[in-house]
Amino acid sequence: MSTNVVVVGGGIAGILSALMLKDKFPNVILIENSSELGGLLKSDNYGNEHWFDKGTHLPALTHHQEINKYLIPDEINDSNLWLKLTHLKPGNYFNKKLNSLGSAIDITSYDEEYYHKILIELLHSRLESRSQYENSYEQIRDLFGEALTNNFFEKISFKFFGTALKDLAPDVLKLIINPRIIAFDENKTKELKKSNFFDMRLSLSTPSINKDVEYFYPKKGGIHEWISLLENKMNNNGIRILKGAKISGIHVDKNEITKLTLEDCEEITGISHVVWTAPVSLLAGRYNLVENRSLKGVRRTTYLFHLLLDKPFLTDRHYITCYDFEMKTFRVTIYNNFQKNDKYKCTVEVLDDDNVVIDEKKIIQELVTMGIISENTKVVESYAYKLGSYFPVITPEMLEINGDIIDAITNEISNITLAQRDSNQFFMADVLANVFKYVGKIK
Ligand SMILES: Cc1cc2nc3c(=O)[nH]c(=O)nc-3n(C[C@H](O)[C@H](O)[C@H](O)COP(=O)(O)OP(=O)(O)OC[C@H]3O[C@@H](n4cnc5c(N)ncnc54)[C@H](O)[C@@H]3O)c2cc1C
Repeated sequence: MSTNVVVVGGGIAGILSALMLKDKFPNVILIENSSELGGLLKSDNYGNEHWFDKGTHLPALTHHQEINKYLIPDEINDSNLWLKLTHLKPGNYFNKKLNSLGSAIDITSYDEEYYHKILIELLHSRLESRSQYENSYEQIRDLFGEALTNNFFEKISFKFFGTALKDLAPDVLKLIINPRIIAFDENKTKELKKSNFFDMRLSLSTPSINKDVEYFYPKKGGIHEWISLLENKMNNNGIRILKGAKISGIHVDKNEITKLTLEDCEEITGISHVVWTAPVSLLAGRYNLVENRSLKGVRRTTYLFHLLLDKPFLTDRHYITCYDFEMKTFRVTIYNNFQKNDKYKCTVEVLDDDNVVIDEKKIIQELVTMGIISENTKVVESYAYKLGSYFPVITPEMLEINGDIIDAITNEISNITLAQRDSNQFFMADVLANVFKYVGKIK
């Protein structure tokens, strides 16, 4: 009987896993439960030539040439079809001002008295190693002091995660905010950053460019074009791709997964190994592979507003994060600032509770208030919808439960590799480095 190596999850982690495994094993099967591959790297189109992305927009070529070998097909090097960017242009809206230079918040925009109060607290702060902290509150307070923590970071935590900093595991804020601040002019900051104490806390207004990283994006279409190229590559390599395939049962015999049953009744047998890139909690919950410990309220819902406008944007930023607590906007991606188009396109992401109604007019008004579009800009077309509850609210409890599930699976099942986006890896480059490390060990 032929043996099958099965990859579960057709996001970028599953795609990398499948391509790597195909170098070693003749029969590789990729199982994706939705109708399209890509996971968070998908795009929307509404019957015209205008594409908008759902999650990640501008992926980076990693430092890792081995990973690039699998994930960067030759087509991406064709400069007629693909853009290459040496750096991203982030911006942010903070304290009623649009910072068009970088991603860090600029506390010099506070009034003098408050600015000095923060500086004094910062100078008296001290930071332990991450393992010393039980939650994000303690960690951020030790970095920046109480005033900035209580009056800014705590409110940001409620805006984006719907919960207090003390409920978040350490390091979680990094998912949505640059954890360094602008507090001095460039020369002074450069000087101060020579010490580790200030380097951990301070940011230059204009971040330095990392020459090792390059970003790519299609000249036409959305980021799904990349996934289409990878899907072709997998098909050409003989990887069997099952889309819309729902796993209804995972069968274990003598500590090994031997069979997967799909809802359409197909059975995948002769399994030598499974690489799991879907959420690990499913293994304990839906598939009862190990004892279930439920994880409640740990995801934030993403709402998308894809907007086609009639006038140019007022900023050259690729994306802008909104740190105003009264506003709904999380991040605005401005396609025209990296992709040529005769219409003006942006996507506004909102992170909120599930099932809230967000008025599109409010979102447009926020773009005006932030100085991203002019007041007389008209919406030509708009598409708004709830993407789903993907954004992790990583609590200490979630880390513990995830850790328990991972330990239990690793102890009980000998032919599974867990290479999922989990509490320790969120950004694509980190997820891929993790996959490369673990999938590379499978023999
Ligand atoms: C709103 C948002 C914005 C983000 N922005 C950025 C960014 O700007 N930069 C960045 O680097 N990272 C960003 N990320 C993170 C980035 O998207 C992830 O690192 C990357 O998508 C992880 O890929 P993945 O394959 O592990 O997971 P996913 O993309 O989530 O893919 C998992 C796949 O598994 C499938 N699946 C789930 N359950 C099952 C099952 N039971 N059976 C079969 N298949 C299953 C899913 O349908 C999905 O296709 C963002 C994430 C979110 C949520």
